[in-house]
Formats: sequence, structure tokens, C-alpha cells
Amino acid sequence: MKKWMRLTVCLMAGVLIVFLYAAQNQTKKETMPYPAFWEAAERGEILRVRMGDGEQWEAETKDGRTVLTPNPRAADGKERLLALQIEVTEEKEIHPEIGMVLLLALGAFLLAGRKTGGALSLQKYAAVNPDEAVPPVTFADVAVSEETLNSMRDIAAFLREPDRFRSLGARPPRGVMLYGPPGTGKTLLARALAGEAKAPFFAMSGADFVQVYVGVGASRVRELFKKARKAGRGVIFIDEIDAIGKKRDNGNDEREQTLNALLTEMSGFSGGDGIMVVAATNRVDTLDDALLREGRFDRRIEVGLPDQDQRFKILKVHAKNKPLSQDVRLESWARRTSLFSGAQLETLLNEAAIRAARRGGDAVEEEDMDRAFCSLTVGDEQPRRMTDQEKRTLAYHEAGHALITFLMLPEQRLSRLTVIPSSRGAAGYSMSEQPDQLLYGRGELFAMICAALGGRAAEEALLGAQNVTTGASSDLKKAREIARAMAVEFEMGTGIDFKEDEKIILREAMEKTRRSIQENRAALDALAEALFARETLRDNEIYDLLNRTRAEEKPEG
Ligand code: ADP
Ligand code: ZN
Repeated sequence: MKKWMRLTVCLMAGVLIVFLYAAQNQTKKETMPYPAFWEAAERGEILRVRMGDGEQWEAETKDGRTVLTPNPRAADGKERLLALQIEVTEEKEIHPEIGMVLLLALGAFLLAGRKTGGALSLQKYAAVNPDEAVPPVTFADVAVSEETLNSMRDIAAFLREPDRFRSLGARPPRGVMLYGPPGTGKTLLARALAGEAKAPFFAMSGADFVQVYVGVGASRVRELFKKARKAGRGVIFIDEIDAIGKKRDNGNDEREQTLNALLTEMSGFSGGDGIMVVAATNRVDTLDDALLREGRFDRRIEVGLPDQDQRFKILKVHAKNKPLSQDVRLESWARRTSLFSGAQLETLLNEAAIRAARRGGDAVEEEDMDRAFCSLTVGDEQPRRMTDQEKRTLAYHEAGHALITFLMLPEQRLSRLTVIPSSRGAAGYSMSEQPDQLLYGRGELFAMICAALGGRAAEEALLGAQNVTTGASSDLKKAREIARAMAVEFEMGTGIDFKEDEKIILREAMEKTRRSIQENRAALDALAEALFARETLRDNEIYDLLNRTRAEEKPEG
């Protein structure tokens, strides 16, 4: 995880917390070699393919198997599949996992870096023609921080009126490096820069340069610059610059040559002649120093994940051309979508619109948004046959998470409980939203562990300690992660024996959770049975049930 990412997460509004019940009898996934996969595809045996940023594609066969095959990250993969009439879903991984988010938010400055998923897609530019016409995009279409926008306005002013700056002896920036997580609007900003300066836009992706034979990359660079020079002015955009600008490793000739060509072209500029080179990367830490030196990409601008206000703005921008029903409140969606990038917000609205169209509606309704949201975060619903016994266990497990969250983390808003399995392998889940926060107290961390253990404790209450299931495995992992962070990073135990501290914290949390479950058994039963009967409960339904049982319990105790 990069520094900017840690910082952004720190400053971010609300966090989505999901407890998944990992399906015990998850469909077994087999791995298929890539050629065999295409053979199967051409024989018509593949029903649908899910592709994301990950190492593998996940495909479903017509006879109900799930197979994995390497993700070639090639531009035409999707097209080929579509041509074979195979359903393709693209997923941008969103992992609002409590452990990670929590550690980040807390130990932001202490923690060693972890790597996040790769670029949104390598395909974005494969098809972009370098001399595409100026797109009518302006800064008003991009929601980023005021700071970022101001820096971009500066650059636009340079482009628009180079003479004014030159006459005052101001040295214009040579190149602008936009950096930040994928899908945050870097490309959009570069387009908007061209739009604002009424200059042509020339774009290419670093990945395009290195996918070709030795020498071709370098000549493509020269071509690109030649076009811009011929036009007299313009914005040259190089996406995924890290593909060519990685710290030099010995032996990649192609990349070396391309990089050298780029540096040569850039040094051929005299400042302020109306051409601006803008590059984008989500891995600024891996770039060759030569690129970042004075006179090259000497202006660095961070484009971070949007905060709640920016998310609201982005949602509004992308909702403009979509009829929304009265019940859709974008403010509330802005609140619920922490950690979403601009691209993911756009996908959310788009998915919702597709769902609305599919059911023949004439506006996007809250239900469409809701389903799209779940589909993006935890996967689509994928009902599976299960025995009543299994379903009841699942219902108790999820109700256990919800009940403990309700009791011990009242500021967390429970938003959804379900026992309908999801396409990503969860048999059920409980989802809640955590409000804006910078620091966490010990008590709160402890309560988070309890919430994670609530599923297991509820299973115990229903089935007896001898009969608990494997469904709590990821919960236990989360609980351990938090306990370890408490013991090691924050020294919230004795501070002497970390291992022992971790164990003590976990043991205490489990005891506390069991006790809470026992003391509130009526509420657990009510919630679990409602979930068993209705399969999915929304926020209002959850709170109605919990408040009601609590009110009933009071007179007795
Ligand atoms: P990046 O270049 O940072 O990976 P893009 O600019 O390609 O991201 O974003 C992809 C799409 O997501 C954009 O075309 C736009 O529809 C949407 N988007 C992303 N960020 C923003 C933003 N800050 N404001 C408005 N729309 C955004
Ligand atoms: Zn669980």
C-alpha cells in the first residue's frame, strides 16, 4: 500500500464493513490452461466469464462448474468472448475489508506498504487513437480535491496563455505527473486540461509501447510528439507511464529505448510552447528517477480517492443523463460508497441503469442501486439450494454479527443482512457502515473483534459449541488481525509479550461476545428467524426488529 493511499484512507469518510460467511460447500474451482479455455469457449461450453484486475478469469461452464484460467490482460479478450456469445462481467475489485482498512486508518504511518490491485484495466488505451479529436470535457466534469484542481488550473493557464507567463519570466512546467489509485479521474483530468485550454489531446498508454517489438515503442513516442508539434499545441497524455518508466532493471531493451526516446523528446521542448506532456501512474514509487528529474515530469499532482463530498459530486455528474426515481438519494449513496473510486461510482450508476432497463422500468430506482451496489461489493445474488438446517445456521451466524454490532458499536449503521449466497462465494453476509473517523479507541477495537466473533458465538448458541461450522474462518482471521494490531502496533496490552497479549485480547473478546449473545438471546432469535424467513433484511427492518425486542426485554430485566 502506497503512502498516498494510506493518507487518503486516513482522511476518508466512513468505511464499509462486511462480514462474510464463507460458503462451506463452495463450488470447487478447477484451473484450466488458457488454450483449453478457449477451446471450451469455442465449443460453446462456457456460459459466462468474470474478469477483473486479478491474476485469473473466473468462468462458469454450462454444466455448472467454475473454472479459473490465467488473465491474459490482452486488449481483445473481452471482445472475443462477446463474439462467442459468452456473457462477460467486468469487476473492479473492491475489498472493504475491516482488517485492512482498520490497520490503514490506524497505523497509517507505522505500517509497511502493501500492494493494492493493479490498474483499472490495461485495455483502456489499447484502442485510443493518438490523434483523437478534442473531447468536450472540462474541469467541471471532474470531481477532485480543490488542491488538485487548482494545480490543474495553473497548468491550463500556462497552456492557454504561455506568453503572459513568459513575459514575467515564469518557467512553465515541462511535464505533469498525475498519480493516485486507478479510476480516480487522472485520464479525465488530462482530457479536461486539453478541453479547458482548447488544445488537441494526444493519448497513448505506456502498456502500448512495451507490447510491441524492440524499437517500435521508441518510434511511436517520436510519432506522438511529432503530431503534437505539427498541431502547434496540445496535451500529450501517457497513461500507465510505469510500464515504460519503471526503475531500470537490466535487460529490458524495449523499455529502455522507449524511455530514452521519451526523455529525448521532452528535453527538446522549449518551455511554454503550448505543448504539455501529462503522464499518469498509480505507482509513482516505482518510477525511474530520470523521469522525475527537473525539466522532465517536474510537476507532480496527486489524484486521490474521492471523499464523501466528491463522491456526491461524481454521482451527480454521472447521474445527469439517467432518470432517477424519487427514492434514490445520491447523498446517501455518497455516504455508503467510501473507498469507491470515481470509476467505480460511474460503474455503480451504470449497473443500476442496466438493471432498471432489464426489468423494463423507466427510471433507476433505489432497488436497482442497491442491487448494483451489492453486486460490486460482495457479488451478485446466486441462490443455491440449501437445507433448512444450513439456512438457519447461516441466519443465526449473520444475526450474531448484527446483534453484537448493534450492541457494542452503535455508531455503525447496519445496512444489510442476507442469507442468499453471492456469486463471489459468500454464503451470506452482514454489512454495516462505519462513520468518519481518524482515531480508534481501545474499547472500539475490542468491540470490532467482538462483532467479528458474533457469528461464531451465535452458532454456538444455536448448535452448541460442539457443532459450530467452518463459516467463521474469515471472521476469526479478522479478529486475530485486529487483536494482533492492538497488541503489536498499538501496544494496548501489557506491551511485554505481544503473543500473549493477542491471546488475552481474543479470549476476553470471545467471552464478552458469548455473554452478550446469551443476555440478548431473544433479540438474536427474533433477528435470525426473520432473516431465515425473509432471507434479506434492510437497515430499517433490522433496526425495527432489534429495537422492538429490546423494548420487550426491558420490563423483565
Ligand atoms: P484513471 O485515469 O485515474 O484510472 P479515469 O479518468 O480513466 O481514471 O476514470 C474512468 C472513468 O471514471 C472516467 O471516465 C469517469 O467516467 C469516471 N471518473 C473517475 N474519476 C472521476 C472523477 N474524479 N470525477 C468524475 N468522474 C470520474
Ligand atoms: Zn461471519
